[in-house]
Amino acid sequence: GVAITLRGVSRAHGSTKALDEVSLEFAAGGATALMGHSGAGKSTLLQVIGGMDLPDSGEIRIDGHALPRRGLDAHRRRVGFVFQRFHLLPALSALDNVLAPLLPYRVGFDRKARARELLKAVGLAERERALPSELSGGQQQRVAIARALIGRPPLLLADEPTGNLDSATGQEIVDLLLGLREQYGMTMLIATHNPELAATCDRLVRLADGRVTGDDLVSPAPDVL
Ligand code: ADP
Ligand code: ADP
Repeated sequence: GVAITLRGVSRAHGSTKALDEVSLEFAAGGATALMGHSGAGKSTLLQVIGGMDLPDSGEIRIDGHALPRRGLDAHRRRVGFVFQRFHLLPALSALDNVLAPLLPYRVGFDRKARARELLKAVGLAERERALPSELSGGQQQRVAIARALIGRPPLLLADEPTGNLDSATGQEIVDLLLGLREQYGMTMLIATHNPELAATCDRLVRLADGRVTGDDLVSPAPDVL
């Protein structure tokens, strides 16, 4: 995983402060839940950390190196994204969807073996030939998670990954993400509206109106009360 530091990061859209002087540190290998009302700035925070949006001011460091304002491609290749909507390509099999991010690149490892390993890791080894339309919502999100991990990213950003799923399926997806984090060691940031899902992360950061309003370590749930 990578360590992330934000210092005084702001991002406005017109008069709306999507992020207002946000300073946060995320330890390498941690899993942090981001909560807050719709419009609080969660997506914007993920986008500036992932190099999909640029802050107006402030600094973002990844493992101590400031993100440049240009030439973010190399950074983006080290980030996996998971979204609320799965955004799978409808004409491609599960296996080909997992491989899709690699198409523009030459990579020096066995792509298919890696994709199959990831489909196995998300519990879909038997469904590699299925089209998205033949899979349930939870299974489609599993494919999307495998796709996000194909480039071995040290950072995984998930924006409402369970927002389109029923609560039991949503909990399975979060448990899967946390298990993958243990297996592969990436740093994880998960924006969610679901407090039960947030409680399974190590840390809970709350945003409101672009500002950090809470930052707590989550204590592990006791097995017996
Ligand atoms: P959240 O993910 O917590 O719902 P967002 O980061 O999506 O919050 O949005 C934060 C605020 O910034 C909201 O008021 C939203 O409408 C605004 N915003 C985000 N992206 C844009 C954009 N591209 N153009 C205009 N306003 C935006
Ligand atoms: P979701 O809730 O599924 O994340 P949103 O509609 O909140 O979807 O946001 C989807 C995308 O649109 C995000 O990238 C966000 O930054 C952008 N966005 C949010 N609010 C606005 C806005 N007012 N104008 C333009 N883009 C926006």
